[in-house]
Amino acid sequence: MPDNRALAEQLKMFADLSEIKGENPFRLIAYRRAADTLDELDESVEQLVRENRLTEVPGIGPGIAATLKEMVETGAWSALDELQDEVPSTLLTMLDIPGVGTKSVTRFYHELGITDLVQLEASARQDDIRKLKGFGAKQEARILSGIAFLNQRTGRLSIGTGLPAAELLAEQLSARLEVDVAIAGSVRRMCETVGNLDLVAASDDAHAIATALAESGALTDIQLTEPSIATGKHAAGVEVRVLAADPEEYGSELFRWTGSREFVAACEQQFGAGPAAESEAQFFEALNLQPIPPELRESLRMIDLARTNALPRLIEVSDIRGDLHLHSDWSDGHGTILEMATAARERGYEYLSISDHSGGLAIAHGVTIERLRQQWVEIERANEQVPEIRLLKASEVEVHLDGSLDFPDEVLAELDLVVASLHSGLNHSIEELTERIVKVMRNPHVDIIAHPTGRIIERRPGGTYDWETVFKVALETGTALEINANPARLDLRDEVAADAHRAGVLLVIDTDAHDVRSLDLMRYGVGVARRAGVGPEGVLNTRPLASLLDWLGR
Ligand SMILES: [Zn+2]
Ligand SMILES: [Zn+2]
Repeated sequence: MPDNRALAEQLKMFADLSEIKGENPFRLIAYRRAADTLDELDESVEQLVRENRLTEVPGIGPGIAATLKEMVETGAWSALDELQDEVPSTLLTMLDIPGVGTKSVTRFYHELGITDLVQLEASARQDDIRKLKGFGAKQEARILSGIAFLNQRTGRLSIGTGLPAAELLAEQLSARLEVDVAIAGSVRRMCETVGNLDLVAASDDAHAIATALAESGALTDIQLTEPSIATGKHAAGVEVRVLAADPEEYGSELFRWTGSREFVAACEQQFGAGPAAESEAQFFEALNLQPIPPELRESLRMIDLARTNALPRLIEVSDIRGDLHLHSDWSDGHGTILEMATAARERGYEYLSISDHSGGLAIAHGVTIERLRQQWVEIERANEQVPEIRLLKASEVEVHLDGSLDFPDEVLAELDLVVASLHSGLNHSIEELTERIVKVMRNPHVDIIAHPTGRIIERRPGGTYDWETVFKVALETGTALEINANPARLDLRDEVAADAHRAGVLLVIDTDAHDVRSLDLMRYGVGVARRAGVGPEGVLNTRPLASLLDWLGR
């Protein structure tokens, strides 16, 4: 049965292929809107079809409802099948190139007969693309570097997809088998992308595990690849591997299956095969080691620290007292200020900064100075309605190409908190980018640099800086650098965050939420900070409100 995301993918595919075929994009808005709706829907479409309630969902009209019904009931969509006969779906792979949209692909296809990435690359190399009106050598070079970037992609899964999928599987297996089931592997270590989902079950019955995997409904191709390992292919596109562990060795096997491979190998070299243990805690105890958190099991140095009880105390989600970068429906967010505040209260927070985009970023419905002042009235009202949460008047201020900010200093001075962001020119040289960010940090009103590199994992490499200079100026000016918790960004990434922390730079972990549910992405940012060896004292938003306000000096 197709899940909501698969259905949304097909709607998007239909819209993209129709547009490339020559359909008026306005007539396709309904499909794209419906796809967005499905992505955020809590209920399953299958259920809604069964109960005949699809048209009750805002944004789903009778036409799309009939389409979804067809897909759910027959597993296919005849109109999409026909369209794929007319327009090659390989065209869609070109949309993965940063900066290439349906408009460009349409022209490559109709004017040059290009149908896939390989042909596009060849045409760009032969200087054929620049023959198109409006294209030049610069666009060709950009296409080539974009394709080179795509070719490095690994087919791995974002931790933002991998962790929830592994959690659900562990829960289902544990309920069916009535034994403990733990997440292991790179998911447990909170790697930013994962190649497979590894679990360890406290049961030596691999056949029962395989049966339970089949019942979960998320896997195909289930088999026993070894007498004690059940595997299958997950709908998300990666392999699932479940180890059937003797309950007496559950802890030691969990250690081995958590990795990293180099880390476990180094431990085995120092301690031999290691004792059999029912729990990981017992395993470490038997080795006379301080328990090493999974996120730190990449660096062999941690073994030495654990030996002398010198591991850092890592930050936890429960240390976080607020979120300092998020969006409301005043810019491109979906929640009202009041809804975001209420959601923050439910999460036990003390404060929240309403940091909508500044006016210059047209694409995200930026807030002009005039509307900013109107927003403050609403923020004050919400502050009275949800007194448990202190809402800060903030802004995600756009950094222009020359390093100047989108709002004048007088306006910045009136804000409680200023988050500065670079969204453009991220492909400029390291010198230029460093100079630009230094200029921003030297503005006395700027408190936080959001998603500093602007990378999108496996899609856009992001900017490169002379980090030593950036850290030095951040320290000097008291600017906090963000770990953006959105699993597509995780920016700063773990290694750079570790360097920043060692240099004494204050970090801040923000979700950049555009809706209420995305406030829960915090754990991915915390995962990055833990991998970077950061404790609560290294992160601005672990501070109580009074000390935060003190730091802000406002
Ligand atoms: Zn941003
Ligand atoms: Zn943002």
